[in-house]
Amino acid sequence: MTRRSFLSTLTALVAAPAAAPAAATGPTQIAPLELSDAEWRARLTPEQYAVLRREGTERPFTSPLNAEKRTGTYHCAGCDLALFTSAMKFDSGTGWPSFFTMLPGAIKTRTDFKLIIPRTEYHCARCGGHHGHVFNDGPAPTGKRYCNNGVALNFLPEEA
Ligand SMILES: [Zn+2]
Repeated sequence: MTRRSFLSTLTALVAAPAAAPAAATGPTQIAPLELSDAEWRARLTPEQYAVLRREGTERPFTSPLNAEKRTGTYHCAGCDLALFTSAMKFDSGTGWPSFFTMLPGAIKTRTDFKLIIPRTEYHCARCGGHHGHVFNDGPAPTGKRYCNNGVALNFLPEEA
């Protein structure tokens, strides 16, 4: 290898990584968290595991978060990703904590055919943990109702 070709190779190697990240990452890019089933069982309470990893549904009117009115953020109990803020919460009267929108990129949806009528299931964008279903009978401005299992959330009150 001549000195000239060595230098041009070196230049190419140095230049390449700088060009790559612009296309690969954006502001809402969230790196996935993947754990084994045993790791999830160790990390979560049995109630959290049943909802987050097995798409269970908690009994209505059982979550203390139904009555939570403080300012703060609601985080995924599986991976601590912030999903909702208190400003997005409303009292739906259904017995589950309900939100009319979510933080950008925090959740992903898919169609669930478990019941006769298809529902839109949603889950945490980072750990894939099941949180609830979204319905089209929510309040303005979105008209959406994210019906969330309270056990799948941790509430962090804002520091006063
Ligand atoms: Zn999560």
